[in-house]
Amino acid sequence: MSDNNVILIRFGELYLKGKNKNYFENMLKDNIRKKLKDIDCKLYFGRGRYVVKEYSAELETVIIEKLQQVFGIHSVSVARRCGYDFGEITALAVEMSPNNGTFRVSAHRSYKKYPMDSMQINRALGEKLLELKPKLSVDLHAPDYILHVDVREDGDVYLYDSTLRCAGGMPYGTSSNGLLLLSGGIDSPVAGYMLAKRGMSITALHFHSYPYTSEAAKDKAIQLARILENYCPNIRLMCVSLTEIQETIHKKCKPNYMITLVRRFMMRIAERVARNNGCGCIINGESLGQVASQTLESITVTNAVVSMPVFRPLIGMDKDEIITIAEKIGTFKTSIEPYEDCCTVFLPEFPLIKPTLEKVEEQESFIKNYADLIDKAIENIETVSISQTV
Ligand code: ATP
Ligand code: MG
Repeated sequence: MSDNNVILIRFGELYLKGKNKNYFENMLKDNIRKKLKDIDCKLYFGRGRYVVKEYSAELETVIIEKLQQVFGIHSVSVARRCGYDFGEITALAVEMSPNNGTFRVSAHRSYKKYPMDSMQINRALGEKLLELKPKLSVDLHAPDYILHVDVREDGDVYLYDSTLRCAGGMPYGTSSNGLLLLSGGIDSPVAGYMLAKRGMSITALHFHSYPYTSEAAKDKAIQLARILENYCPNIRLMCVSLTEIQETIHKKCKPNYMITLVRRFMMRIAERVARNNGCGCIINGESLGQVASQTLESITVTNAVVSMPVFRPLIGMDKDEIITIAEKIGTFKTSIEPYEDCCTVFLPEFPLIKPTLEKVEEQESFIKNYADLIDKAIENIETVSISQTV
């Protein structure tokens, strides 16, 4: 363990204005603490900057990976720490910097009483490096190497030469609760990730049509929820059976209305589940025009049965853009494993692309017991434990 190896954590300024500053910061600190609870390290929470200290070198990559899953952290840097003594700073700078090529020193002094200002530090340290490493030369505009020197108020000076971008966003848990409709596909986990990134706590709801859909299909939703748990601590997953509803629609209604009607039932159930679980909105992975059920007309008809906001963070995204995020967050490989979705049960040959509310309501009127069907589906909801530690 090297005492002076640290990881600097930076968070955005955006939400730190006004009265809510403490609320956001406390949530972020709490999320970081929970994320690193199994790691042998110390956390220091200073003003405007958090620091991970006293960890063994082989844990560095794991710690960084974990921090990259915490929303609200914008970037991290691995740094070396020393005291205010300029000799110590110089020794570290010499150790860290390359022996040849171009360089620049970029100092930042939040401790204003430090006897040198940033420009003086840049110049003095630059001169020392030039003197001790004659093959180095200074380039202020496009150097090969930038040595950052951060003089903090608490007696610490940090030196670092690279910065890693992190997830950004708002601390998880600071933007109310949403109910994510989680299928086994590529899109819905990404949709959940995007709202979680804005601080929303996620509860997931998965529809299945067992025995038309397999246990494996449900397992896939569980796997996806587990991956999402990296970003959404304590995410819960509930599973609802749509089997009876689908069988009834199949029996009573025109085949090409199947998907539209199923989706209206999904939305009704989702809204009830959301309200029962303290969620103020529904989140899904629809993207405009991707399939027949995602045209404006289809969305209008399915949206008509709910009164809470439905967030569709992927609505304007192309599939390849969604896949890029799915790969980044680690859900893609699981999402592309073969599975049947309940939407594919009793799939009509020609699904409606432009349904009208009037005709859809007419078809739905043939299902006399639809309120009972919804009640029954909700009564039989199954909450699945997804936490890996349980
Ligand atoms: P995905 O890749 O997320 O499965 P998709 O492109 O296959 O999406 P659809 O099957 O039309 O699109 O579903 C649109 C959205 O409806 C999904 O993103 C998801 O939010 C929700 N959804 C679809 N099937 C299910 C399901 N079985 N359980 C829960 N939600 C679902
Ligand atoms: Mg799907």
